[in-house]
Amino acid sequence: NLPVVAIIGRPNVGKSTLFNRLVGKKLALVDDRPGVTRDRREGDASLVGLEFRVIDTAGYEDEDAASLPGRMRAQTEAAVAQADVALFMIDARVGLVPLDEEIARWLRGSKTPVILVANKAEGKAGESGILESLSLGFGDPVALSAEHGEGLVELFEALLPHI
Ligand code: GDP
Ligand code: MG
Repeated sequence: NLPVVAIIGRPNVGKSTLFNRLVGKKLALVDDRPGVTRDRREGDASLVGLEFRVIDTAGYEDEDAASLPGRMRAQTEAAVAQADVALFMIDARVGLVPLDEEIARWLRGSKTPVILVANKAEGKAGESGILESLSLGFGDPVALSAEHGEGLVELFEALLPHI
């Protein structure tokens, strides 16, 4: 049985882009519209020789704004409960938004270890978002560019103790 890694975070931070990169096939939708991926997806991932099962959690573009946090919370908590470790992804270019802080609160009571991941960190545009993310209380983030494939060795090193 492979260890399980869940990628969680608000819509549009780049979860499916990382999932696609780890699984190596275009199994998850990637779109500019926030939350376009409807369902959760799972695939077998390989990262620097480390093999694990990865869960990509989805957004709900068809939901009205009022019901989105509740639905997202249920899906996030289910994926995290099933996982050996969770990757909590934020967008380093945008910085923290209130939904990131809300997700951080959901995760705080969880027994599953959480690795903070600051995605879209290529170039200098992500620097302030990386600093901001320290306030979430999950330690130093792994700075990543899922799109450009940067930071994957650091992600490997962060996952290794947990899987
Ligand atoms: P999800 O909703 O969290 O699954 O996010 P997606 O993977 O669908 O990505 C949302 C948008 O962010 C898409 O336009 C991606 O191309 C873009 N994106 C993903 N990763 C990166 C990255 O590392 N850098 C930049 N600049 N954009 C990214
Ligand atoms: Mg997605």
